Amino acid sequence: MWQNRRASMTITAATIPVAAPLKVDAATGLLVGARQVLSPHCDARPSGVKPDLLVLHGISLPPGEFGGPWIDRLFTGTLPLDAHPYFRAIAGSRVSAHALIRRDGEIVQYVPFGARAWHAGHSEYDGRKGCNDFSIGIELEGTDETPYTEAQYEELARLAAALFEAYPSLGPEHIVGHSDIAPERKTDPGPLFNWRRLRTLVEERTALR
Ligand SMILES: [Zn+2]
Repeated sequence: MWQNRRASMTITAATIPVAAPLKVDAATGLLVGARQVLSPHCDARPSGVKPDLLVLHGISLPPGEFGGPWIDRLFTGTLPLDAHPYFRAIAGSRVSAHALIRRDGEIVQYVPFGARAWHAGHSEYDGRKGCNDFSIGIELEGTDETPYTEAQYEELARLAAALFEAYPSLGPEHIVGHSDIAPERKTDPGPLFNWRRLRTLVEERTALR
């Protein structure tokens, strides 16, 4: 009797639905099925350089507000300056990231992963300067003062697993925050980012593939 109960519990646990893996088309650098809002703020990586670092950022526009079209507009160079006083302060910023994960877990892609997005600025990792050359930049919608959502951790782990598969030069041991590669200038993704949670999920997601 006890054995049967244990057996049925095992089956139940194994049949909990898990979201299908995400897939990056390595030829185009696009995430299959994601919403794409392609940014002009990018160029080619230096010849022969493959991405080997994931850089995590936090962003909200206006600062502290979530939702709305403003991150898309910033990264495509179409932010309307009269929509909010803060927007004038960042007018003319030619910045982007490869992808954004919104509070509800939606992934938006702005730059093909094989191209160079302009997300890191002056930065250094492991003795190498100019991290845009060799990294993939992922924004999480949030602030330094707000915990990120479980949906964001889940989708970030799914995206990371897909990227590791498409670009074998990447790996779970090379994931950093913007604050790690530009500590004098940047604090994102912030002290509330749960690195332990991310590592657990990345291990699970990578093992599932
Ligand atoms: Zn950043």
